[in-house]
Amino acid sequence: MRSCPSCGCGTGRVHSHYMRRVADLPWQGRVVEIRLHARRFRCANPQCRQRIFTERLPETVQPKARRTARLGESQLVIGFAVGGESGSRLSRKLAMPVSGDTLLRMIRSAGFEPPDAPRVVGIDDWAWRKGQRYGTIICDLERNRVLDLLPDRNANTVASWLKRHPGIEVIARDRAGVYYGARRGAPDATQVADRWHLLQNLGEGLRLAFGRHRKVVRAASRGDRRTSAPVIALADNLNRLRWTKATAVAA
Ligand SMILES: [Zn+2]
Repeated sequence: MRSCPSCGCGTGRVHSHYMRRVADLPWQGRVVEIRLHARRFRCANPQCRQRIFTERLPETVQPKARRTARLGESQLVIGFAVGGESGSRLSRKLAMPVSGDTLLRMIRSAGFEPPDAPRVVGIDDWAWRKGQRYGTIICDLERNRVLDLLPDRNANTVASWLKRHPGIEVIARDRAGVYYGARRGAPDATQVADRWHLLQNLGEGLRLAFGRHRKVVRAASRGDRRTSAPVIALADNLNRLRWTKATAVAA
């Protein structure tokens, strides 16, 4: 008893037999071909447009396929690992011959699970050429992978990317330009400054502060008590900063 693929009606009326040749996994390093005596059935439903249908073996081989499902899976793994032409050479060595073009076709038609939409992203500068041309890099911070490289550092570019990727809840970023782009592209997302940029900004601020009080710092280094009080306060702050930085790095 077989079911008609068009109407689902069961039938046991065999119309004819035919031979299918399908390639299978190798045996002892030899190429294996299965010669399958398949049947054609008549559909028992008089209303069905499909009078005759061929026997289906969904777990073994797809209709009209020339290789078994298990051989196709192995060849696909090879294709993904080494690509079309190299995959073809390796498959031949392993007694599962397949052309490079067929491997590429198999790779293209392989079903992919679409990745989950990103929820937490980091946006930062990225150098096409250091000191000359910068773009924007967007990373998925939960999966630690790069999502996209944008050609420039423009707020509009960031905004339009975010609009195309709804569902982002948290954006870690540093630059003001990104801030405006992120506000427009994902108005509901929470924007946070990441730890590295906070510390970098703080360090930069302190360097400027010390730079402005160079005279006092020099006096303090000579042991001049009258001018050293503000420096001691600054040094205290610096010590506290170092401690905060260490905690942040350790966290
Ligand atoms: Zn039918």
